[in-house]
Amino acid sequence: DTNPTTLKVLMVPWLAHGHVIPYLELAKKLSKTNLFFIYFCSTPIILNSINQENLPKNIQLIEFPLPSSPQLPSHQHTTNGLPKNLLSTLIQTFGEAGSTFAKILDSLSPDLLIFDGFQPWAPELASSRKIPAIDFLIIGSASVSFFYHHYLYAGKRDFPFSGIFLKDYEAKQLQLTAEMNISIGPNVAFNGLEKSHEIILINTCNEIEGKYVDYLSTLSNKKVAPVGPLIREMETTTENSKIIQWLDKKDESSCVYVSFGSEYFLSKEEIEEIAQSLELSELNFIWVLRFPLGEETNIENALPKGFLDRVEGKGVIVEKWAPQARILEHPSVGGFLCHCGWNSILESLHFGVPLITMPMHFDQHTHSRMTVELGTAMEVVRDDQNGKLNKEETAKVIRNVVMEKNGGENVKAKVKELRKKIREKGEEEFDQVINKLLHLSTKNKQVNTQYDIKEE
Ligand code: UDP
Repeated sequence: DTNPTTLKVLMVPWLAHGHVIPYLELAKKLSKTNLFFIYFCSTPIILNSINQENLPKNIQLIEFPLPSSPQLPSHQHTTNGLPKNLLSTLIQTFGEAGSTFAKILDSLSPDLLIFDGFQPWAPELASSRKIPAIDFLIIGSASVSFFYHHYLYAGKRDFPFSGIFLKDYEAKQLQLTAEMNISIGPNVAFNGLEKSHEIILINTCNEIEGKYVDYLSTLSNKKVAPVGPLIREMETTTENSKIIQWLDKKDESSCVYVSFGSEYFLSKEEIEEIAQSLELSELNFIWVLRFPLGEETNIENALPKGFLDRVEGKGVIVEKWAPQARILEHPSVGGFLCHCGWNSILESLHFGVPLITMPMHFDQHTHSRMTVELGTAMEVVRDDQNGKLNKEETAKVIRNVVMEKNGGENVKAKVKELRKKIREKGEEEFDQVINKLLHLSTKNKQVNTQYDIKEE
């Protein structure tokens, strides 16, 4: 049972790894203040994937049962490992789960709801029960403000920051991708911004993208409060230690870590290009390779003929999942060839690893532009018209970054400088957020708290 003076917060992230991780980290950060009791609500398959041993006592996991169907069995109520053609079914099923969520709300009666995209029902259900609902965005403010600006002004006004833009093939790709239409559609992604109660939380910090945080505030006419960077805690398993031992034997900053996140799957052509680029770079590498559910392939067959023999000793392929945070913090890693998922970008800054960016889809293009503008990344050059990769170019960028030449040395210096700034920044901003949350929720409930609630 919760202490009656503790505020009850219900958190419900979208069903993707890249959302669940920062939501859980925010839950832990809130729980540390001892002012909140957190109900963390998600589908059984996602809750089962959470390591419950180290979970603070004031976080309770709450099951959100979505309707199962032959097309979408309950073990697929997550985007992780979901066959590509079922993503829109999952979005739709979640979008229709409002009545189930209403029951959860009524049984828990939280003082505050922290919600995410793809939940058009969340703010309405909460506000009809006088519960403040707050949007927590898990991608960067440069990207959110870029897409929101375009949604609001529909091409009538230029985005005020020239560093963030889409290349021709990217703009074409985003309009053509069905998933993107769903995810940047006004009913979903921007619904949260518009319905959020007075404040919007975002997993970033002013040191990384302060001007975009401010611009998002202007666009949304709400306080946009950065609460990041929220970085996931490390995993330690014996499986993981093998790769760490491999890194231990390599020279400092001599390896490139290659990963495309939890949801993007490389095409056969991309696998070949990347393999050849890594070979051409002549650098040590760790490459995480994954295939969609039902399309698992023998790794050897997926790679160019003889590749594994040729790179033996120099490169390792990790199947499915690597202990990314542990790899990035290792001194032998000198660069990260990255798809630009937001969590990966924050991790690269947190661990001070220079990026070689290869954005694939969605918001990754604009995340890449932001890191290049920051000076902490070099982007792999593609064909302007069709976005095709070029192995010589890719190898060159990888080498420049890892070997710190032709500008790569500046990237390294910048990433180290920013890492220091982020680690040394105080918690004043977060304290302000806590104040605001307490204030919002105590509007509905008189609570005797020691915390100094300041009116703004
Ligand atoms: N991740 C990992 N091992 C992998 C792939 C990903 O630990 O093999 C983690 C990574 O550290 C990050 C998250 O999964 O925290 C991926 O989130 P991101 O936003 O970078 O990309 P997404 O998966 O959403 O495309």
